[in-house]
Amino acid sequence: MSFNSLGLSQALLKAISKKGYTTPSPIQQKAIPPVLEGKDVLASAQTGTGKTAGFTLPLLHILSENPKEKYRPIRALILTPTRELAAQVYANVKEYSEFLNLRSAVIFGGVNQKPQVARIRQGIDILVATPGRLLDLESQGLLSLKRIEIFVLDEADRMLDMGFLRDIERIIKMVPDRRQNLMFSATFSKDIKKLAHGILHHPVQVEATPENTTVEAINQKVYRVAKGLKTGLIIKLISDGNWKQVLVFTRTKHGANRLCKKMISANISAAAIHGNKSQSARTKALTGFKKGSIRVLVATDIAARGLDIPLLPHVINFELPNISEDYVHRIGRTGRAGAKGEALSLVSADETTYLKGIEKLIDMKLPVEIIEGFEPDPNASTEPEKRQQGRGGNRSRRNSGSGNSRTSRHKNNNSRRRSKGNNDRRSGNKRH
Ligand code: AMP
Repeated sequence: MSFNSLGLSQALLKAISKKGYTTPSPIQQKAIPPVLEGKDVLASAQTGTGKTAGFTLPLLHILSENPKEKYRPIRALILTPTRELAAQVYANVKEYSEFLNLRSAVIFGGVNQKPQVARIRQGIDILVATPGRLLDLESQGLLSLKRIEIFVLDEADRMLDMGFLRDIERIIKMVPDRRQNLMFSATFSKDIKKLAHGILHHPVQVEATPENTTVEAINQKVYRVAKGLKTGLIIKLISDGNWKQVLVFTRTKHGANRLCKKMISANISAAAIHGNKSQSARTKALTGFKKGSIRVLVATDIAARGLDIPLLPHVINFELPNISEDYVHRIGRTGRAGAKGEALSLVSADETTYLKGIEKLIDMKLPVEIIEGFEPDPNASTEPEKRQQGRGGNRSRRNSGSGNSRTSRHKNNNSRRRSKGNNDRRSGNKRH
């Protein structure tokens, strides 16, 4: 199948060709036609599948077909959970609309609102936004959502994980009842289905990859290791392999910082990316990583979500996630676009339960290796660490709507450590 057969305008085909895309990805093949027909779409797709173009291309087509008004009301709203994703989606919108007479803007918290407001004042057709800043600006009367024709909810599952349910409900009340809705989610939990039911009208359901399956192109391996030897082992693996671009996952922000410092002491350039980092520090880390000046990016699950890092050769789980689905998201960062990737997990005795949960979810046993000098501790307890238990934080009223285990985990993290250096009232405690 080619892009030509999807019914997109010449201006869009020109932009697609400029990007170098030749064939629509499976999610694009499935999502673009029903969106063009004006239908609501509920899509199961994660980052890396080409989902952004899957909703952006037909959205731009529809907006450019309809006559524009001199006064440009915002006609399409794309809501994303994180700033990074908002920035990436916006970059795509701009690229794909290069040959169209459409204007767009992006807004998110943690940065001065003035330039964002100035851009909106000039008149825009498409707004990409995170919920917190959107509600802030709306409540200040600086933007209106009354003329929205197309509403896109990107990474809806992560939205719920981050406690945005109430914000989404508030935003839905601000947009017209008659509108086209597109909702994208990597997973389909009960909460997601409920949310979809409340937002979408008779949606066409499309799926890019079967739920909870790991990409075949990824070599997965487990290194059994004593907890205290993990840092030494990861440094050895990266140094011996002379790996140049490695994404490392830790469970906590603190753990990410600590590991990052140890890497730097071992002469491996590294940066951490998580919610306590300022926007400029996160952008700098990501740019350095993409350019190759930073070899190792240490990230927490939430911060890594939505990052567009093409063709990543190595992903290492310094700690296994306690939510099995997160493992699938993490390793989905490698082996993209047909390239072979490697996903390694350093597993200590106390993570045995998590490993079992992951193997059950992906329905395969992961091969295990033990490296001499970095053996597991035969006397260590296989009980999960205490801090992983006793879930169920006490704050965040925002989380009340999605009582799943992920939400509880984030609550727990949030209540332990408050986000620093962030003036955005709404997003302050949600960025990991
Ligand atoms: P996404 O899942 O939207 O984050 O996209 C993942 C990556 O795939 C991005 O770098 C896109 O630029 C790229 N991409 C999207 N669609 C295509 C396509 N049809 N052919 C090749 N690359 C694509």
